[in-house]
Amino acid sequence: MSRTLITGVSGQDGSYLAELALSRGDDVFGMVRPDDDWLVTRPAALADVTLLTADLTDSAALRRAVEKAAPDEVYNLAALSEPGRSWHEAELTCDVVGMGVLRLLEALRACSGGDLDSVRLCQASSSEIFGAATGATQDEQTPLRPRSPYGSAKAFAHNLVGNYRQAYGLFACCAILFNHESPRRPPTFVTRKVTRTVAGIALGTATELRLGNLDGRRDWGHAADYVQGMTLMLGHPVADDYVLASGLTHSLRDLLTAAFACVGINDWAPYVVQDPALVRPAEPDPLCGDAGKARRVLGWRPQHDFQALVAEMVHADLEELRSGATR
Ligand code: NAP
Repeated sequence: MSRTLITGVSGQDGSYLAELALSRGDDVFGMVRPDDDWLVTRPAALADVTLLTADLTDSAALRRAVEKAAPDEVYNLAALSEPGRSWHEAELTCDVVGMGVLRLLEALRACSGGDLDSVRLCQASSSEIFGAATGATQDEQTPLRPRSPYGSAKAFAHNLVGNYRQAYGLFACCAILFNHESPRRPPTFVTRKVTRTVAGIALGTATELRLGNLDGRRDWGHAADYVQGMTLMLGHPVADDYVLASGLTHSLRDLLTAAFACVGINDWAPYVVQDPALVRPAEPDPLCGDAGKARRVLGWRPQHDFQALVAEMVHADLEELRSGATR
């Protein structure tokens, strides 16, 4: 039985990954912050996850968590994961997203007793490391030119994982994740804000949707597909970095059209208010991932397209609002 440690298990990707790891029979350890609500509110489907408490800013706690889990596989998904918010919490973001990875790498080194062959690490890297990319698509060779504190911290972590792979022979992969969404995305992210508000408008509990730049384009996929890609990386004989992306971009307007169509509204303009206060200080250039290497080497095949993703999110939000529950 493989022992799998997931940091950020209470987040969107962490919950999908924990479900996947439990379904394949792993002994699953989930790391949460000591004050995480999830210690009492975690979903019943994840009751078999052994919870360990540690913050990525706390080296000693991190090391204790790694010692207890004694993992074969580690997925580092913990992060302050909102690029826009990282402008307001730059120091903390860099501490968690950048230095946190250094602390984790050192904890793995310390706990391995010198046998780094015994553990495999997947680091959740991000398309935001490419920031001001110039090409039409980005792949594993694209230069890193981040444009936010979050992107810079992810770039630091990305390089560091490569350094530890090269210098210590650690089996460490970076999953260079382009945007991925699901009904489990918090409403602070624009996709979920849209699907939730559209559901509210359809049910008469919301009247308007306030957004920033409607023309920004994103490469959006489904979180369940991306965590499956991460497990393929650690199952491969050779450690390497892989882009996981849909390879298609859609604008916020496309998202609005798809989401409103799910509730039978074809003209969404009367409901949408463009608010300059919601425009990011530096919008990333449109990024579009080339996941050709993951398809060729790992056989990665995403199961969800953009329309299916949006429909799943809108329908989940309709159900949630009708039932009065919140996610
Ligand atoms: P998420 O839903 O925001 O989850 C982040 C997790 O990290 C949460 O469980 C959070 O716990 C935990 N966390 C935050 N600060 C922490 C700290 N100081 N110490 C320990 N844990 C901490 O993110 P996600 O969407 O699942 O993304 C997973 C990973 O992929 C992240 O590293 C993210 O940066 C990266 N990524 C995501 C996307 C995407 O589109 N989703 C794209 C590129 C890269 P709390 O609940 O206690 O805050």
